[in-house]
Amino acid sequence: MPTDLNAFRRGLEYLHVMQDLALEPGMVNLLESVRDRAIILTWIGENIDTVNATLQRYLFACHDCFHPQERRSMQIFAVPLAQSLGLDGLCNIATNPITILIDVGRVSPEGWLSIVAHEYAHAHIASPGHHPSFAVVLSHLCLGLGLQTLGEPTEWTLRSWPPYTPTLTPLAFWRGEPERRRTGTARPSFLSGN
Ligand SMILES: [Zn+2]
Repeated sequence: MPTDLNAFRRGLEYLHVMQDLALEPGMVNLLESVRDRAIILTWIGENIDTVNATLQRYLFACHDCFHPQERRSMQIFAVPLAQSLGLDGLCNIATNPITILIDVGRVSPEGWLSIVAHEYAHAHIASPGHHPSFAVVLSHLCLGLGLQTLGEPTEWTLRSWPPYTPTLTPLAFWRGEPERRRTGTARPSFLSGN
């Protein structure tokens, strides 16, 4: 199956690049331990450009909320993060351009813009903190993007703002399976990488 093999190799290469962009290589650990590694890597090889094009559109939507001279140089990629971390996204301000990584398997697609906006705010202030200057940038983004705006922001609410729905099985997306939603009263929240 040469096509599949090519896709697998592309997926493998992609994850190696992502390891270099993560805060530490172990944050992208699919290469080591996961049962469905071959399926996931092949799926990534075949589909990652489409997914990244969507994230790129959301990144540009965030950029549009700022004057060109205020925008920082940023890049964004979708990647399955080590599930043990419980992270839906992270921002690595040590790279140039600043890197935003989103585990789109952990977030329902309607929530992708929300987590991109959250990580964008970190990237914009070049800080992992959820402090007042982060709140100012995030509020500006929420207004500009039509996302739920913050009331009285506290550090706790800022950590998981804007709210979105997590997926039930994070790796299902990466295996190319249809989405299954988490139902019930679970509080929508995400743990940012920062
Ligand atoms: Zn955060």
